[in-house]
Amino acid sequence: MRAPIIAGNWKMFKTVSEAKAFIEEIKGKVEIEGVECVICAPFTHLHALVDAVQGTRIKIGAQNMHCEDCGAYTGEISGVMLKDIGIDYVIVGHSERRAYFAESDDIVNKKVHAAFRNQLIPIVCVGEKLGEREAGDTKKVIKVQIEAAFQGISAEQAEQVVVAYEPIWAIGTGKASTPQDANEVIAYIRDLLKGLYGDHVAGAVRIQYGGSVKPENVAEYMRQSDIDGALVGAASLHPASYIQLVEGA
Ligand code: 13P
Repeated sequence: MRAPIIAGNWKMFKTVSEAKAFIEEIKGKVEIEGVECVICAPFTHLHALVDAVQGTRIKIGAQNMHCEDCGAYTGEISGVMLKDIGIDYVIVGHSERRAYFAESDDIVNKKVHAAFRNQLIPIVCVGEKLGEREAGDTKKVIKVQIEAAFQGISAEQAEQVVVAYEPIWAIGTGKASTPQDANEVIAYIRDLLKGLYGDHVAGAVRIQYGGSVKPENVAEYMRQSDIDGALVGAASLHPASYIQLVEGA
């Protein structure tokens, strides 16, 4: 039985005081037995948010990190630093990072290793571009991304990974994938994991859908056989909407 996980990806939104006010609003309202709630906030907010969620079941995640633990990398943040302040999750390989910050499959893999080195759970994002979907290449693209991300990752680690399938054309566009199409790709990801690690790991890994998920459509995704939650951008920014997303899971 895989526990559903609703993760908010705030991207580059909110001030620290707005973030703390958000936690005050959702506290006590998202602590639904069996549903895991994660908020992935900007780096500057993480310390304050770890404090704000003390005594609740809400977990805090980062949106990125460097693949080395320390070094001369001006402006970067490492897994060591995230673990030190009490972070549990880190998003790795989000399509915006792949597109705007040249994050390759190889870097994504290095970051997955760095996450496990520091006892962080990676939320590994994969997804195809519109042109790739239209060319019928979705599965081909996903296979390359998944196999690269899990390179050298042990079965014990692999079963803890959260995968987020986020078709790029569905992110921030209001043009969500249909629940059936999303489930088909997610079932394919599970099949790939079965090929890499066998039944046990494939059955344990949680795979989220992301891309224009809203309170109105979340339940339909959750009803699908292989979808274990959502990675949500815009609709995770408002407390009432985030609470509804968790209730919908
Ligand atoms: P939206 O929910 O705003 O489409 O963003 C999805 C996303 O990129 C989450 O990581």
